Amino acid sequence: MGKSLTAPQNTGATARQRCLQPSCGGIYALADRVYVCSRCGGPLEIDAPLGVATGDPAALREKWRLRAASPDAKNRSGVWRYREFLPLDPDAPVTLFEGNTPLYDAPRSAEYCGIDVLQLKHQGCNPTGSFKDTGMTVAVTHAAMLGAKTTICASTGNTAASLAAYSARARFRCAILVPYGQISSAKLAQSMDYGASIFEVEGNFDDCMRLVQELGGDPAIYVANSINPFRIEGQKTVVFELMEQCGWRVPDAVVMPGGNLGNSSAFGKGFNELRDAGLIDRVPRLYVIQAEGSAPFVRMFEELGPHPSGPEHNLPETMIAETHPYTLATAIKIGAPVSWKKSLRAVLESRGEVIAATEQEIADAKAIIGREGIGCEPASATTVAGIRRLAREGKIRCDENVIAVLTGHLLKDPEYVSNYHRGTLALPAEPEGMRRERRIDGAFQNCPQRVAANKSAILKRLESREA
Ligand SMILES: *Cc1c(COP(=O)(O)O)cnc(C)c1O
Repeated sequence: MGKSLTAPQNTGATARQRCLQPSCGGIYALADRVYVCSRCGGPLEIDAPLGVATGDPAALREKWRLRAASPDAKNRSGVWRYREFLPLDPDAPVTLFEGNTPLYDAPRSAEYCGIDVLQLKHQGCNPTGSFKDTGMTVAVTHAAMLGAKTTICASTGNTAASLAAYSARARFRCAILVPYGQISSAKLAQSMDYGASIFEVEGNFDDCMRLVQELGGDPAIYVANSINPFRIEGQKTVVFELMEQCGWRVPDAVVMPGGNLGNSSAFGKGFNELRDAGLIDRVPRLYVIQAEGSAPFVRMFEELGPHPSGPEHNLPETMIAETHPYTLATAIKIGAPVSWKKSLRAVLESRGEVIAATEQEIADAKAIIGREGIGCEPASATTVAGIRRLAREGKIRCDENVIAVLTGHLLKDPEYVSNYHRGTLALPAEPEGMRRERRIDGAFQNCPQRVAANKSAILKRLESREA
């Protein structure tokens, strides 16, 4: 692969990996495969002194706009198009033309939430159906530049599908660790088709994560979980594309689901860098929504007390994990999120919040998004459920400009959708007898109807239905 590990062309400075613990300050080269700080175990972040910050914002916007119409692979990718802000600049990145996802007006969802205008940034329209692709193109390209031959990740399904696809493009061996029996069959089918070695671990996601950290000690194995700071770099470009689509007018609030909390970390970093480079003049409030039964980040946030704001707030040192995460939104069924420090910093700096949505709220919000003709997977619908709650509590005003980030595609979890509309959706009983089965009401049910093979029977049923 072309150039070695270089900083963006026009910075003249060298990007590096920096430990986020203020008391540590560990620094690593881009070629160091450490993932977390080897001195203190803290999270790493890519620190690229941005030469573009002193450049001309208008010229940079124009350059990006022109690249979007270029046939060149590197320009067609909705991630590599923004390479001035990426730590790597290879001649031939491992790409599936990720990014380039639509921003939709969602009037039905806005009405449901009780606000005037709501827009949906649909990251489910990426090549493998989730936002994970925007980070994976950078991580797998990094792996290729380091000469890795095997990639590995723990996953609730979407990271696996994405890593499997990009690893196939790069002709890597790929190992996927998923909790046995917990993954949507559609997501698992993707990894099978992309040729990954799939290990169904007898344990939960957090067990898979621990195993990946142990296996990642082998220098031949490249770890692609979101503790890997290169993934965050790719994911932050979603903000750049979003701001382009908004005509560089900053929204008031951006709302996204929270699982491992890599995505919200990436949004925080993306907005901060655009502001520091003079491309936007302020950062929107960032809201992270978790599912009620899988909400360790919500509990931590509540314990910070009323109106926590700004980085000067006394930040906790550790997070108390949820040992039995419990939700049908499997993409965010994570009890010990690895990126909570970065995400908390982003939420606090932006003066946003972290709240929970119930299973019923998530299910209904998902059906409303579907009625827009858009659709998403359950985890993504926490956003609309959360906005509805925030609007009711007066934390989002009805005239504010709000964007919800849909993280995954409707077809990622067809069983859930079908059960909701047939009125058979339920949270299963916990094996240890901790919780009983709980049914979820299909409040906006749309069940297929059996009908005689007869024209007038069909017309009669159609007439009784509103558009
Ligand atoms: C991964 C994922 C999430 C959670 O994102 P984090 O970065 O782990 O917080 C939410 N929704 C979908 C569809 C996902 O694939």
